[in-house]
Amino acid sequence: MGGIGPVGIVGGGPAGAELARRLAEARIACVLYEAAPYRAKPCGGGLTPRAMERTPPSVREATPGRPVFQITSRSPSDRTFDLRLSEPVTIVSRKAFDQQLRRAAEEAGAKVVYRRVRTVEQRDGFFIVDGRDAFSLLAGAGGFNCPVARALAGPLPAEDLAASVGYYLEGEHPSRIVIRFVSGLAGYLWFFPGPSAASVGIAGPARGFSVRRAETMLKNFLESLVPGQAPNGRYVWAAPCLRTGAFDARPVAGENWLLLGDAAGLCNPITGEGIAHALESAALAARAIQTGDLESYRTELEKGIVRELRRAAVMKEEFFKPGFLRMGHLVMSGSAAANDLCRRFAEGKISYHDLKPESYRLLPKALFQVLGSRIGRRG
Ligand SMILES: Cc1cc2nc3c(=O)[nH]c(=O)nc-3n(C[C@H](O)[C@H](O)[C@H](O)COP(=O)(O)OP(=O)(O)OC[C@H]3O[C@@H](n4cnc5c(N)ncnc54)[C@H](O)[C@@H]3O)c2cc1C
Repeated sequence: MGGIGPVGIVGGGPAGAELARRLAEARIACVLYEAAPYRAKPCGGGLTPRAMERTPPSVREATPGRPVFQITSRSPSDRTFDLRLSEPVTIVSRKAFDQQLRRAAEEAGAKVVYRRVRTVEQRDGFFIVDGRDAFSLLAGAGGFNCPVARALAGPLPAEDLAASVGYYLEGEHPSRIVIRFVSGLAGYLWFFPGPSAASVGIAGPARGFSVRRAETMLKNFLESLVPGQAPNGRYVWAAPCLRTGAFDARPVAGENWLLLGDAAGLCNPITGEGIAHALESAALAARAIQTGDLESYRTELEKGIVRELRRAAVMKEEFFKPGFLRMGHLVMSGSAAANDLCRRFAEGKISYHDLKPESYRLLPKALFQVLGSRIGRRG
């Protein structure tokens, strides 16, 4: 690759580590900076089938994961439904997962520097990291508060962020993901049972998020699931949660720089899923760097991930409304056809764009089934 390299990559989470591995495998020199190699990134650790597919096989094999086939969803009015997955959500420790991704990058030949990047400047056609390391091409993969993104695209405003409070619960817990919606929160509580600990937390829009109120809800949620067990590893964290217009307003690439994963805002505004997008953005970025066509990165993202996330952002405006949640839980618990659609959607087999036409197609059958189940219950 004449003229390229070394590439600077700030942030060694899924996006940055996977980009480093792919570049190193393509014999493009790169330096990956990671600030916190021994810390688990606050996360549910849930790898959807889509995320598993995008994880390098060596990392999949080396990271202990717990496949979970059941998701229970509970509405604010306590109506529940279960999804029985045919392809599991695999729950991993983020510490182990990220370490394995970085190890794969190092084994492929990437240079990994364990240091927090403080400053990013542009000088004489180069990007200068911390006033001393010069790169002709720079990738920002440092999460929602990435210094590259802050310097080149600007910080994310609170309106485009979600806030969360979470804990870990040691031990092996029943193999079931629990999602709980509560009134007045455009977000949810979760319980993700991992291989040696469960991740529990609550997330909602950062603007107006009250940590105290969130913790009270979280404690009640925990008490209902695992009474008496004390959680540990408390964190308060943020994640991108872009509004519809923000996907258009925010640049993901410019002259000789690009942003990946959370740094590019590639997190699902409804579910908070981001690992699959981080890994996919790394694959697209690596290809764009290899071909020397950074514009293709922007257009490929736009055609795929961004198009989907923008659609999710539109749906979000209705999704957390009490009426929508009530109706959703009623239909999912009373109609096998609707439940199956939801399962396929959760497994990533139906896109956000196809969800609406698919739902309309199923509507008569679903309503008939819901009616039948309610009459059956009364009879
Ligand atoms: C509470 C919570 C729960 C979540 N649960 C899930 C889930 O279950 N499934 C899912 O798919 N997604 C989940 N997500 C989203 C997911 O965690 C992110 O989308 C994903 O981690 C993005 O990967 P990334 O590599 O872009 O960024 P990150 O994973 O944030 O990685 C960024 C890396 O950059 C490093 N870094 C940051 N600043 C610097 C610096 N200045 N210098 C050097 N290094 C730096 C950090 O230490 C970190 O390792 C969750 C998010 C949150 C907040």
